[in-house]
Amino acid sequence: MAKSIKIFAPATVANLSCGFDVLGCCLDNVGDEMKISITSIPEVKISKIEGADLPLETQKNVAGVAVEALLKAYDKPVGVDIEIFKKIKAGSGIGSSAASSTGAVWAVNHLLNEPFTPHELVAFAMEGEKLASGNAHADNVAPALLGGFTLVRSYKPLDVIKLHSPSDLVMTVIHPQIEVKTSDSRSVLKQNVDLKKAIQQWGNVGGFVAGLFTENYDLIGRSLEDVIIEPLRSILIPEFKAVKEAAIAKGALGCGISGSGPSIFALSKSMETATIVSEAIREVYSQTGLDFDIHVSKINNQGVRIINQ
Ligand code: ADP
Repeated sequence: MAKSIKIFAPATVANLSCGFDVLGCCLDNVGDEMKISITSIPEVKISKIEGADLPLETQKNVAGVAVEALLKAYDKPVGVDIEIFKKIKAGSGIGSSAASSTGAVWAVNHLLNEPFTPHELVAFAMEGEKLASGNAHADNVAPALLGGFTLVRSYKPLDVIKLHSPSDLVMTVIHPQIEVKTSDSRSVLKQNVDLKKAIQQWGNVGGFVAGLFTENYDLIGRSLEDVIIEPLRSILIPEFKAVKEAAIAKGALGCGISGSGPSIFALSKSMETATIVSEAIREVYSQTGLDFDIHVSKINNQGVRIINQ
């Protein structure tokens, strides 16, 4: 049994317009790297973090908290050493915390000869999300663990479903280098939803899921609409409207806020379109004077993967 493993912990796009807190998908070439080792001293230690200024204390780092949740359920003395090589910036809206907590629990489970199923790992990784945002949401950790597109049908009890992922779909993501505080992006939300809007929203969730399974790209595009959260949150993201219009004009199926922002995603039917969309978005953002990153990525149907052993 290998005692040490190096893994790729993927970035994820949550919500996908219509599916606030329930839909998410996994990116293929955007993510962190982590080295996880089983040690003889029965404690969880974070020995190295490169690429970000994040806490090394186990209880303050989502990776540490998630692994401790797993080991509590495992109920045997095990030592774990975690090294994190951060590429996804915290607070970007593409699942930075989720990458660390899922990468860590996936690797420890692998090194222990898989005592837990991927679905069970989702619950451990959610403990990390609880630390990061105060809310144990699964819309980033589920796609990072299961790959592809996922739906959280229910939180109580936890019921996570892996959806079909049409192979032609490609994501373009722009990350404006601005800080949108999670507290701000939460405080703009309303606690009550207008029934007419709710009807539109759950129609779109159903349409999106059906579109994925039938590989009906028009239906996927029609369903990528958010009448509840986006109108409130998009005001926090500079040039959101211009980016969305440019992406749709260049052929994207849909465009919306990634997670709680400030990243914006556009979903396209091919790598060619996604690249054209990325250029159009770049042009819009170049005029803002803000720094930004753009990623173009296939959908990663596997989730966390081993880089080397
Ligand atoms: P994103 O918006 O990219 O999903 P989150 O807002 O979920 O990112 O998570 C960022 C928060 O989690 C920050 O407050 C950060 O300090 C905290 N955090 C703790 N440990 C980690 C970690 N290993 N990786 C990323 N963020 C972490």
